[in-house]
Amino acid sequence: MSSADDVLAELRALRAADLPTHGGRTLAYVYDSGLDGLDELSAAAHALAASANGLDPTAFPSLLRMENDLVSAASELLGGTARTVGSVTSGGTESCMLAVLAAREGNPGIAEPTVVLPSTAHAAFHKAAHLFRVRPVVVPVDPVTFRADPASMAGAIDDDTVLVVASAPSYAHGVLDPIAEIAAGAAARGVRMHVDACIGGWILPYFRRLGRDVPEFGFAVDGVTSVSVDLHKYAYCPKGASVLLHADSELRRGHFFAGAGWPGYTMLNSTLQSTRSGGPLAAAWAVLRHVGDDGYLGLARAALEAVEEMRAEITAISGLRLVAEPDSTLLALTTDDDGIDLFTVADEMGTRGWYVQPQFAHGDSPVNLHLTITAANRGSEAEFASALHASVAAARTAGPVVVDEGIAAFLADLDPDSLSEEEFGQLLAAAGMGGGAGLPDRMAEINAMLAIARPRLRERLLQEFLGILYRPG
Ligand SMILES: *Cc1c(COP(=O)(O)O)cnc(C)c1O
Repeated sequence: MSSADDVLAELRALRAADLPTHGGRTLAYVYDSGLDGLDELSAAAHALAASANGLDPTAFPSLLRMENDLVSAASELLGGTARTVGSVTSGGTESCMLAVLAAREGNPGIAEPTVVLPSTAHAAFHKAAHLFRVRPVVVPVDPVTFRADPASMAGAIDDDTVLVVASAPSYAHGVLDPIAEIAAGAAARGVRMHVDACIGGWILPYFRRLGRDVPEFGFAVDGVTSVSVDLHKYAYCPKGASVLLHADSELRRGHFFAGAGWPGYTMLNSTLQSTRSGGPLAAAWAVLRHVGDDGYLGLARAALEAVEEMRAEITAISGLRLVAEPDSTLLALTTDDDGIDLFTVADEMGTRGWYVQPQFAHGDSPVNLHLTITAANRGSEAEFASALHASVAAARTAGPVVVDEGIAAFLADLDPDSLSEEEFGQLLAAAGMGGGAGLPDRMAEINAMLAIARPRLRERLLQEFLGILYRPG
């Protein structure tokens, strides 16, 4: 046996190599309130319930109670009524998937169901469509605002449509789709409408209270039948908690599962999971109670101020602009200057201790760097700006990354649908990553390579990459 202290020391050493989850320098993946004591509270609450099993709410009534409390809090924030119900899930992807599943199950007469998605809808809906065999009908968004176009969305609805989706806001550009207009189009056809407020749901209502012009996007809008909101984003809860709300219980039924066709217990599940840790639920419950409405208002104010300041700093840098006018806390910065390689800017930010997330070009959306801004960014905007200034200057000096002609030709010849492990190995070797060389410090060359691969090939290449990363020993 190893002593508990030794094990924890080992774990701390492993964690030291990760991106920091506090301090606001990791501008994707993590959400930092900056509040003292919140980590300790959520860790303690997590520990109190981590061994309890949400599989049976009658055996663990504390989990049932806390789940109902979380759903009730989300419902109150998002315009729910006395009929609103919901489920706590493991995250945004699961919430979005369950919205698709419930819509499919709610329309058993439709043999080949479709879901109408703006091209900016989160990839979670493509995952849902893939796993649940619902066909995605992807509708282009406005090329300037990157908002979904209500007329095109309505035009894409037909007799096979089981669900229409819009974002509040979209992850890639941080813009709010015209929810009311899209919902009206769905309602006119008697089709369900899901609002993906995974990232905006816990902060945009507070922005409205702070005086920002934020149109209604929840159940106050006629025609909205479900809304997802992630607690592990702007509710600043530990990972593993999201809420999917439905306008009424009839709409939710389709994602409940009961399995009595075996000799064991009747498996009764409200979400995709069966055994379900009480940890994330209890942690979220504790964080919500502790921070409270006034606390969230203050955190929203800090995030909003940080967004405005960082946005001004970015646009003041010669050569940089935002892809779209942001409606929330997400910025996508880009350039029209061929002398600035954004993948190199991302690497340069990395060497200065900041993580920004590269997003590849897609349709009218150019290659860009995504920033998720949280309350913890308030106060260090100038530091961010100087790092970005220096990174852009360094990228200009380095010049654009050019993909080796041989590699480009090899990529052009690869067939995504028959890509083999051997071919992928050859590509890695050509890119200097063969033979277990591990991840390079700089990603610009790899990103430049992925950027010229068609999306389907990029998906396949990265799947192969996962297969190599996840190897025991
Ligand atoms: C984050 C996000 C999701 C997916 O959430 P996960 O918690 O990462 O699974 C879905 N939609 C939007 C708009 C998001 O921002």
